[in-house]
Amino acid sequence: MYQAFLLKYAEIGIKGKNRYKFENALCEQIRCRLAKIDGEFEVVREQGRIFVGAHGDFDFEDAVEAMSRVFGVSAISPVEVIEDKSWENLVRAVGDFVEKQYDKRDFTFKVKSRRSDKHYPLTSPEICVEMGGRLLERFPELSVDVHHPEVYIWVEVREKAYVYSRVYQGACGMPLGTNGKAMLLLSGGIDSPAAGYMIAKRGVYIEAVYFHAPPYTSERAKQKVVDLARLVSRYTGPVRLHVINFTDIQMYIYEKCPHEELTIIMRRYMMRIAETLALESGCLGLITGESIGQVASQTMHSLMATNDVCNLPVYRPLIGFDKQDIVDIAERIGTYETSIQPYEDCCTIFVAKHPVTKPNLDIIRRSEQRLVERIDDMVKAALDTMETIDIDA
Ligand code: ATP
Ligand code: MG
Repeated sequence: MYQAFLLKYAEIGIKGKNRYKFENALCEQIRCRLAKIDGEFEVVREQGRIFVGAHGDFDFEDAVEAMSRVFGVSAISPVEVIEDKSWENLVRAVGDFVEKQYDKRDFTFKVKSRRSDKHYPLTSPEICVEMGGRLLERFPELSVDVHHPEVYIWVEVREKAYVYSRVYQGACGMPLGTNGKAMLLLSGGIDSPAAGYMIAKRGVYIEAVYFHAPPYTSERAKQKVVDLARLVSRYTGPVRLHVINFTDIQMYIYEKCPHEELTIIMRRYMMRIAETLALESGCLGLITGESIGQVASQTMHSLMATNDVCNLPVYRPLIGFDKQDIVDIAERIGTYETSIQPYEDCCTIFVAKHPVTKPNLDIIRRSEQRLVERIDDMVKAALDTMETIDIDA
């Protein structure tokens, strides 16, 4: 029924001279997503909006869903394009639109208008008032409610005119590619996929690393992480996932260091390896799903001990969130059901009964001295044997 969409964006409208870069990045992202949908689409910038035109048949639901996952888009409206915008034709076309869209025309409405063609004979407020009157004439069962209408009828007069009344919510945020790239430590849990989503939403491309510990963690646990990366990539675009075989390092720490320090020392090696990978692939920071106090390895003391080994900034977008807030995000972005599948996590296998909750940095550093003999070789071997998987929803 519709052959075109008008997309609104919020934040990138305020970027001054950089605005065109944001708009171009946004158009590019929309093109990428629509390329995966059956149908042919054109995407063009159009004075504070993005116009998407469809040629021929396409799946409406799929197209709306794809566009609603593009960061930077705040709203998506299927529109009817009115080529001849002369007033009497516009009145007729808007009436036809209402007739076509609504079987029963007994609702309350309000006309909203935007006019970028400043030579148009009517101003925006005049269009609202006059068009409202003409619709009432044609459909006597309609009534106007300027405060809480059931339906807003939008009329935009640009080079052409557009009419629409349905608005789908977009993902908001900033277009991907406007803010560099970061390395996400992606586990099979609830938190890290949500953390990656949140940073990507600010325009950051995501690369990911998963620490796998076969045979203590199964192929199925790894597959779960791949599945999560795929779900996240519906929003973040393609994700390159590095799978590091962490078993030997973990066993070695287990053998040499006090068991209550195992988790902290292990997390420090994860961060070191993630940072090495991040620097190799041009990432500007690390991302984790940590939240203060959630578990022993996420107390302020533990976070300090983990952070100690990183030079790159570590982004922890969930740091102040309660678990339920994180679950809400995971449900909204569709990762929750996969995250709660019960596969073992490499962190839980060797955990001590009483892990330190207030690790002392000097003591931790001293414990790590016990690893000097072999740890560098092991880290190198882990990097040399890592598997890299390119994932795209
Ligand atoms: P999540 O729900 O993300 O698994 P969590 O509550 O289980 O988090 P931890 O196990 O303490 O918390 O992990 C804290 C963070 O460390 C995770 O959010 C993730 O970013 C990273 N992390 C933990 N385990 C791994 C792993 N095996 N591979 C990659 N990153 C990991
Ligand atoms: Mg976890």
